[in-house]
Amino acid sequence: MQLRLKNQNEVRLFSAAITVTALSFSILLQFFMLPAAILDQVLFTSSVITIMVMTPITYFVGLKIQDVSDLTVQLEHAVNHDTLTGTCTRLSFYRRLSEMDDLPLVIIAADIDHFKKINDKYGHKAGDGALKQFANTLSRNSREEDVIARFGGEEFVVLLQGMSLEDGVVTAQRLCDQVRKKVFIAEGQQMRLTASFGVAEASSISEVDYAIHQADLAAYRAKRDGRDRVYTYNPELDKDITWAETAT
Ligand code: GH3
Ligand code: MG
Ligand code: MG
Repeated sequence: MQLRLKNQNEVRLFSAAITVTALSFSILLQFFMLPAAILDQVLFTSSVITIMVMTPITYFVGLKIQDVSDLTVQLEHAVNHDTLTGTCTRLSFYRRLSEMDDLPLVIIAADIDHFKKINDKYGHKAGDGALKQFANTLSRNSREEDVIARFGGEEFVVLLQGMSLEDGVVTAQRLCDQVRKKVFIAEGQQMRLTASFGVAEASSISEVDYAIHQADLAAYRAKRDGRDRVYTYNPELDKDITWAETAT
């Protein structure tokens, strides 16, 4: 169990609770250990001393616990979220996956087209802004429960739990259309993007890695055939593409 203190009020409450507990033990101990005649004389003084010593010490300890709690929250956020786009990292993608029910699911692999040219034309900072907005477009056009992760520079994976392949393709087509329609604005410059999408299904969580591989192959074929399109994994058509050639 980890004690977390979120704000000053919780620190004060923590300090008061520990001080009252220490005071109660001190009174009980004196009550049983000291003769009644002496008890009357020392009880008040010892109680005041207990409060005077315990309050600042527990308040200081509480502040330190609050610091550790804040750092833990920041660290958890950094580990679980991509710093640029706020999407899941590869690590948190697999963590979310491990918490899911073992339902059939669909994987969409998305790779922005000619992104290097965007950086060359508008600058790396504007490219960063476009990446952020691209991730936003993916999440705004997905369901709350879908997992969106940045797997590489301009490569994303979307996991659609409990969805048929047909519905997954409809979702991928919607994402593809929305990206094409959107005017991306970063660093005061307007730019247009397209992306290539590959879709594959997994009948259980254990098949997800294989489905990601298949979705990558389909996305690579979409690139080869002109980009800005959605392709579903096809064992016949994708058999010539080697793993090393794929985007993700
Ligand atoms: P393709 O259509 O074949 O995918 O072409 P591409 O240019 O998108 O692909 P390529 O793999 O050649 O280049 C990817 C580019 O993405 C190169 C790299 O500078 C850029 N990139 C990767 N990560 C980031 C990032 O975090 N910020 C910015 N601004 N650019 C990035
Ligand atoms: Mg690309
Ligand atoms: Mg790429």
